[in-house]
Amino acid sequence: AARASAGVRGLKAYDPGHDLVAFRRRFGNDVLVELGSNENPYGPSPRAAAAIMAQLEVLHRYPDPLGGDLKRALAAKHGVGVDRLMLGNGSHELLMLLGQVFAGPGTDVVFSRHGFAVFALATQAAGATMRIAAPLPRDGAMPLGHDLDALLEAITADTRLLFVANPNNPTGTWFGGEALDAFIERVPPEVIVVVDEAYAEMADAPDYASALGRIERHPNVVVTRTFSKAYGLAGLRVGYLVAAPGLVAVMERLRESFNVNGPALAACEAVLDDEAHLRMACRRNAEQREALVDALKARGLEVFPSQTNFVLVGFGREAAPIERALTDRGVILRPMGGYGLPDCLRISVGNPDENARLLAALDEVLHEVR
Ligand code: PMP
Repeated sequence: AARASAGVRGLKAYDPGHDLVAFRRRFGNDVLVELGSNENPYGPSPRAAAAIMAQLEVLHRYPDPLGGDLKRALAAKHGVGVDRLMLGNGSHELLMLLGQVFAGPGTDVVFSRHGFAVFALATQAAGATMRIAAPLPRDGAMPLGHDLDALLEAITADTRLLFVANPNNPTGTWFGGEALDAFIERVPPEVIVVVDEAYAEMADAPDYASALGRIERHPNVVVTRTFSKAYGLAGLRVGYLVAAPGLVAVMERLRESFNVNGPALAACEAVLDDEAHLRMACRRNAEQREALVDALKARGLEVFPSQTNFVLVGFGREAAPIERALTDRGVILRPMGGYGLPDCLRISVGNPDENARLLAALDEVLHEVR
C-alpha cells in the first residue's frame, strides 16, 4: 500500500456487504431473499434477451467504441444532442471518471454526509480533499436528506466538483424542482454540479424534478443515469451522463475505448423501446414500497421517506444483531454501519413474495433479538 498514491492509500476495497455467491450456494436461489442491492425484482424488458441473443453472432468483434446507436436513442429520448451524452460501465464508472478528470490533488469535492458512497471514493481516488456537508436533521421532514444550503456553504475557492444524488442512496430522500433551481443558481459556475439520478425513473413525488431540464441553461450541471435500476439491467453494467458538449469532450479523453460491451449496448437500446415495461416496473415498485413502508411502520420502526426502490429503516438500537439473525434466515439486507448509521438497515423493495418473506423473518427476529 505504501507504493499507492496518497489518495488511494487511505481507501478500502468495495464491500458488497455479503458474500452473495456463498449465500446462494447455502440457501439456494429459491430460498434466499436478496434485498441488499436495490435491484429490480421484475427484471428487464424481454426485448433485452432477444437483443443479446443476436449479439452472440458477433462476439469476436469489438463493440462500437462510440456506442453511437445507444447514444442516438438516448439523445432522442431526452431531447438533447448526441454530443451531450457519454456511456459508462455503470454510472459508477462515470462518477469515478468525473473525479479523475475534474478533481485532483489541491482541489476539493463537496458532498453530503449520507450521500452515495462512490462520491467519497471518486474524490479520494483523485487525490482531492473531501468537503462533507451536514445532512438535514433526522427529525425533520426530509430526514438526513441533502441540506442544499450546507452544501453551498461547504464550497471553497478550490472546489471543482459537487455531488448530489436525487433521489439519494442510502437515504431514499429527494429534493424538489424549486429547491434544485435555487441551488443551481447559487453554485459558482466554475464548480461542476453532478446530479446522480440513478433512481429518477422511479421518482413520482409531485415536487420531484430531474436536472436534465437544467443542463442547457447551466453548462456546469452534469446528470448521471443508469440502466441498473428501473430498467432492470444491473448485470450488464451500463450508465450514462448528460452534460455540456465541451465537458463530455474532455471526459472522452480518458474513457476506455470499449468500456461498454456489445451485448450491453444492444440490450439497452432494446429496453429503451419498451416504455410499457419500464412503467410497469415503476408502478409495481411504488405499490410495493407503499405496502412495505406501512408494514414496517406498523412494527414501530423508523421508516425514512423514499422515492426509490429501497427504504432506510431505523431500529432504535444497534442493527447488526438483527441483520445477522436475518442473514441466518436467508434474508440479505444492507448494513449501514459503513455509512455512519449503525442503527439502520437499508431494505430494497422486492416483489410481493419477497416482501412477505422479509416481513415474516423480521417478525421472528424482532421477537428473538432483544
Ligand atoms: N448512484 C447511485 C445513487 C446508486 O445507488 C448506484 C447503485 N447502487 C449507482 C449510482 C451506481 O449504479 P451503476 O454503476 O449500476 O449504474
